[in-house]
Formats: sequence, C-alpha cells, structure tokens
Amino acid sequence: MTTGETPLETGLNLRMHQVREMVDAKGFSSEPERIWEMLALIHSEVSEAADAYKKGQSHEEVGEELIDATIRILHLLSALEVDADAVFDRKMHTNWERPHRYNTVRGG
Ligand SMILES: [Mg+2]
Repeated sequence: MTTGETPLETGLNLRMHQVREMVDAKGFSSEPERIWEMLALIHSEVSEAADAYKKGQSHEEVGEELIDATIRILHLLSALEVDADAVFDRKMHTNWERPHRYNTVRGG
C-alpha cells in the first residue's frame, strides 16, 4: 500500500483512486458541472472502440479504446464519490439472481 491509500482501496476503488490522482495532476476538473461532459466522453470512447473494430484494427487497439472508456468511467465514479467495489459486488449479486437470458424477449 502506498501513501494516501486507505485499507478499503482495493480493486475498482484502487483503480478509481489512481485515475483520480492522474486526472487531478493533469489539471482536469472533477466538479459536478462536468458530469454531463464526462458521460458524453465515456460514449465517445465506446464509439472509438466500435469504429476501431469496424475498421478491422487489432483487438489490442479495440481494447485500448475500451480501457479509455474504463478510465473515464472510473473518473466519473470518483466525481460521484461512489464506492465502486460495493456497487459492483451488489450488481453482480443481482445479476446472478436473475433468470437465464433475462430481458431478452427480442434477443440481445
Ligand atoms: Mg480513445
């Protein structure tokens, strides 16, 4: 554990902390008025991944765009002050409790 981390910082919360340190150091705001912009930027990175896949770029390149999206999601989660590990665990539990191929009447 490095300086500044709490014992609860593991997994997603640790990554969220690492992203927040980087964006703060690079001068990017995490203020509430940027929430809509952050949401839009997550979309832009997912679109970049779709475009890279469409163009036949390598899986590594597609993955790099998905990691860009992940970084932006972790930044937004930090701005929202969400316990990402707790929410992840709760959502995974909920999803495991759902029936096989739930909500897929028309595919998906
Ligand atoms: Mg990108």
